[in-house]
Formats: sequence, C-alpha cells, structure tokens
Amino acid sequence: MQDPKRYTITAALPYTNGPVHIGHLAGVYVPADIYARYLRLNDKEVAFVCGSDEHGVPITLKAKAEGISPQAVVDKYHEIIKSSFKEFGITFDNYSRTTASIHHETASEFFKDLYENGKFIEETSAQLYDQEADQFLADRFIVGTCPKCGFEESYGDQCENCGTSHNAQDLINPKSVITGNVPSLKETRHWYLPLNEYQEWLGEWILKGHKNDWKANVLGQVKSWVDDGLKPRAVTRDLDWGIPVPVKGAEGKVLYVWFDAPIGYISSTKEWAERTGKDWEPFWKDQDTSLIHFIGKDNIVFHCIIFPAMLKAQGSYILPENVPANEFLNLEGNKISTSKNWAVWLHEYLEDFPEKQDVLRYVLTANAPETKDNDFTWKDFQARNNNELVAIYGNFINRVVVLTNKYYEGVIPAANDYTDVDLQTLERMSQYPEIISKSIKRYRFREALSELMNLARLGNKYLADEEPWKQIKTDPERVKTIMFVALQIASALAVLCEPFLPFTSKKLKGILKMDELETLKWDDVSTKKNLLPSQHQIKKAELLFAKIEDAEIQIQIDKLEASKASKAEEKIEPQKETINFEDFTKLDIRIGTILEAEKIPKTKKLLKLKVDVGIDIRTIVSGIAESFDPKDIIGQKVAVLVNLAPRKLRGVESQGMILMSDTAEGKLSFIEPDGDAVANGEKVS
Ligand SMILES: [Zn+2]
Repeated sequence: MQDPKRYTITAALPYTNGPVHIGHLAGVYVPADIYARYLRLNDKEVAFVCGSDEHGVPITLKAKAEGISPQAVVDKYHEIIKSSFKEFGITFDNYSRTTASIHHETASEFFKDLYENGKFIEETSAQLYDQEADQFLADRFIVGTCPKCGFEESYGDQCENCGTSHNAQDLINPKSVITGNVPSLKETRHWYLPLNEYQEWLGEWILKGHKNDWKANVLGQVKSWVDDGLKPRAVTRDLDWGIPVPVKGAEGKVLYVWFDAPIGYISSTKEWAERTGKDWEPFWKDQDTSLIHFIGKDNIVFHCIIFPAMLKAQGSYILPENVPANEFLNLEGNKISTSKNWAVWLHEYLEDFPEKQDVLRYVLTANAPETKDNDFTWKDFQARNNNELVAIYGNFINRVVVLTNKYYEGVIPAANDYTDVDLQTLERMSQYPEIISKSIKRYRFREALSELMNLARLGNKYLADEEPWKQIKTDPERVKTIMFVALQIASALAVLCEPFLPFTSKKLKGILKMDELETLKWDDVSTKKNLLPSQHQIKKAELLFAKIEDAEIQIQIDKLEASKASKAEEKIEPQKETINFEDFTKLDIRIGTILEAEKIPKTKKLLKLKVDVGIDIRTIVSGIAESFDPKDIIGQKVAVLVNLAPRKLRGVESQGMILMSDTAEGKLSFIEPDGDAVANGEKVS
C-alpha cells in the first residue's frame, strides 16, 4: 500500500498472568513503538493501541494457585504492565484491558453479528471432562502429547514446542491439569468458526497477495497451516471466567480467549476515540487505513488465520496490511520462561537501571530476533552500551558540545566557505532520513538502527579528519565552519534517533536548546538548509550515556543464577515414609578419610576408593566420578555407611557407602565433619 491515509498499529495484548519481560519487548513492543514514533514524526495519523489480555484459563489457574480471584490476578499485573510500559517510553495512544466493559460490549456484539448472520456452526459433541473437578477441560486445563510433533507437554489449544494450534480432543494421552486425572468425555454444545471455508481465500490473500511483502517466517507458518487443511475451530468454552456467550441457552459458557483478545484491538481503539473525540471507524473500516499487527511468532496463527477469518466473516472490517512477527529472544543461552523465572523483567530493569531505558531499547533493537531466534546476554548489553552508545554516539555529541562551549561560549558560530569535504558530509547527512526510512518501512529495525549509528560515525570521522582542536591555533576561521557542520550532524541525530532512543533525543534536544527553535520533523534533516542556525546558544555538555561497569552486570548475572538456585530448592523431594528409632540405630555411620582414589576403567561415574574408616582400611566404590577428580579428594574427610552389605560393582567389591548431598541438578557434595579434630572411626548418630 502506497502512503495510506492513516495507520492502525496494534501490539500483541500482553497476557496478564505475569509482568512483561525483555522477550516481549524485543519481539513486539520496541519495534511497534519505533514504527509508531517514526510515522508520527512524519506527520502520519496513527492509532497505536494495546491492552491487557485478561481472560483465559492460565489466569484462573494462577488465581487458584494463589488463592485469590481471577480479577485480583489481572488487576495486579495490569497495573505493573501498564506503568512499566509507560516508564519505558512505549507511546500507546491507548492501553486498555479486556475486562473493560467497552471490550465486553464490543466482543459480544462481534459474536452476535456472526451468530445472527449464520457464520458459525453449532455442534454438540463429547468433550474432555474432569469429573473430580466438575469441569470441562480445554486449552491450558489439559496437557497431552502433540499430535504433530510428539511433544508430551502440549496444551489443549496450542503446542509450545512446534507452535501448532489444535483442538483439545486431538491430544494423545490427555491429562487434566487440575487433578492429574485422565479425562472422561461429556456432551456439550459449542459454536465453531468453519476455518475450512476460508482456507482458499486465506491462501489467495496471504500466500499469493502478500508473498513479496510479508516476512518469510510468517508466510512459512501460514503455508504449513493451509497445506495441512484448516478445520472448524470452537470459539466458545465451558468456563466461568471470560465474556459470557451472548446467546440464549449458552449459560455457563464464555468466548474463547483467542476469539475475544484480538477484538481487544478494536475496543482499545474505540476507548481512545471516545476519550479524544475522534471517530474510531475509519481506523478499522476505511480501505485507506493500513492495519499492522506487531506480534511474536507464537501468535502468527491467531493473527494470520483466525482473526482475519473473523474479520472477513463480519464483512465490514479491513484486513491487516502486514503482520511483521518476530522470532524469540533467548536469555544467556536459555529459553526465557515466566514459570522458571528465567527472564529479565521490565519493571525490575527500570528499578535497577533508572534513566537507562534507551540502553535496553538500543540493545533489544540491535539484537532483535527479526529473522531467527537471538540471545540476550548481560555481557553483550554492557559491550553495546560501552562500545557503541558511549564510544560512538556519546563521544561525538560530547566533543561537539564541549568544543562549542570552549571556543564560542556555547554560541553557534557562522560558517565560512564550505570545503568539498564539508559539502560531501552535509550531503551524506541529508540522505539519512531516506536510508533509515527504507529499512523501517520494511520492518528491518536492526538495519535502521545501524544506519542511525552510521550517522554518528560520520560525525566522528568528520571531526577526526578535520581536527578542530589542532586547527584552532592556526586557522580559527576554518574551525567555525567545522563546528557549524558538526552541530548540524548533532541536531540531525537528535531528530532521527527519536523513534529508537526517545529519551536520548529529548536530552540532546535540551542540550542543543532545540525546543527554542521550530520543531524539526523527519524530512527536515534532508530538506532544511540549516537545522541549527548560527548565533543560537546551546547548553553546557552533559553525558548522554554512562559507561556500565562490570560490577553492575555481575549483579544481574548473580540475580539470574539465584533464580535458578531458588527454583532448584523448590524441587526438594518430599519426605520419605516414617521409620522408628530402631531402624535408624541399625545404620552404622563412621567418619573416614579417603586415602586413594582411581577411576574404574570404562565407567563414567565410578571411582574406586581406599578409605580409612577407623575400624579398618577398606575399598569402597562410589558413583562420584562426574563431580570429582580423583586427585582432588585424597585426604578428604567423609561420612561412611560401614555396615551396608558388601556388593560387587564392575568386578570390585564395595564395602560401604560414602554419604553425599545431592542437588536437584545432580551436583554432589561430601558430608564432612567440621574441622580435623574428628578422628577416623568416630560414630555419626
Ligand atoms: Zn507440537
């Protein structure tokens, strides 16, 4: 679509069973915000909408686990998510929530519309049911083996391993998440959207119509769906948390969360329009509007198959112009996991790194998982801040501002005659709005950001080549021109970095006192003669970016390690069955010292030890070779169960057992007496 009249930009509704982490930011919110800010800088009309997704089974499971109501769960996380987005500079025009009455009304109407126009199939069928819990099992209430990839922990609606979306009855060996029971079958009536009827149209519209402008990962998933053949999809559930199905005789049933959630984009737009006195309808119904969905790859099916089929069935809505889904961001080599607490949480980052929103925005964009899964590491975070933001961007600005203050007391000098180098540099600078635009329009935000940094590099190179600090002694008139040119580049950076680094843009505009001048738009960098006029007074230098020290990063790495350790603690095995005192007194445990240790050939785990247990020196075979090197444990004090019946292991008779502690990850440690005063043969009791 060439230059539409307006844009409706949606960012995936964050699910309200936990806070937002860096994976969400890199995949959805940072690119969506860059795009929205870029369009606004270009005077486009934009509605950038989002909101909390507050229905669905995981919320009710979380509420059960915490002993609170589902509403209390969503109230808690909605507040955390909303305020952390705001503090991070995500410029939603509206951030709503799906428990809002405007959304309940909008989603109900949408359903009724399709219902009354005969767009659903109504069907009574036997569905999975947990008798003990007295509840039908759908979506996350049920796990089982994925019929497509064989993953054993697939949910009822989607397999997190292969991304396939299916119906709960398709699972092999299904099990109730509530009770662990094998479900039975019970008859229930539901409404289905016959996706099969939209299959041909979807194939034409996406696979043919958008084969050149949609991302390969998105087209690939859609193709595999269409090739597999689409099936009717239930859009209602037997649940008590959600939007009641607005049809007579549907008591106790709610809309499927993935039916109501995307309608949340529409209700959020309505809420915004009501608040600002605008008309929401052109943003969803005018063909001259470009609708763009920013999502992660796990949501492709919902935004490219199910929601478009709903919109098409309704008939009066526009369809997405693009769905630039990203892949996943990993953290320090492992998949980010809310349940395992393996994540960097936005609200915690904002506490630990106040005023450093742009550093995270920068790193997540520079390393965005646009075409493949990528990895976030704290070392890389530190390196990109210190070697790129500080050393390239910050360094250039600092030199320009310091020298302008030093030579001219902060008043921008008038340029004399330009040299060829000056003209070429200014010409190059004026090309950046278009260079960066090209990448942004193709949703290549990494590329766009690296071009922005090339503009800072251009400034650095110009100063390094022209050496104003040397020329000031011999040719002060020449230096006026050099500083004038450098200041133009500094102000161009202030304008063009705004979508990526909004806090830096604001700070830099403050230093250059650009707020006292006419507000510059994106294309002004190409077309305006002088971005900063001579005689304009700027402020003293202030650091744009600060170096991040090793110690700050170490705190974050330790925090991650600690969350790993605390999870391991949770895996502590339950207590074994009770024994009486006589059972215990049968155990003869003595202190001993390891005298010799060698590996038993052709085994992975076994060490043959000679241990002085006070009574005698005996041979013990111990399965500790993966944790200890034989030479390191000579002289080690140990606790030994000495009256264990001897047994042969790999041909060696073992006459006792070394007692060890064992973590959930299989890390072994010796049980040793405190100090050397304890002699071999002393009893442990
Ligand atoms: Zn699967």
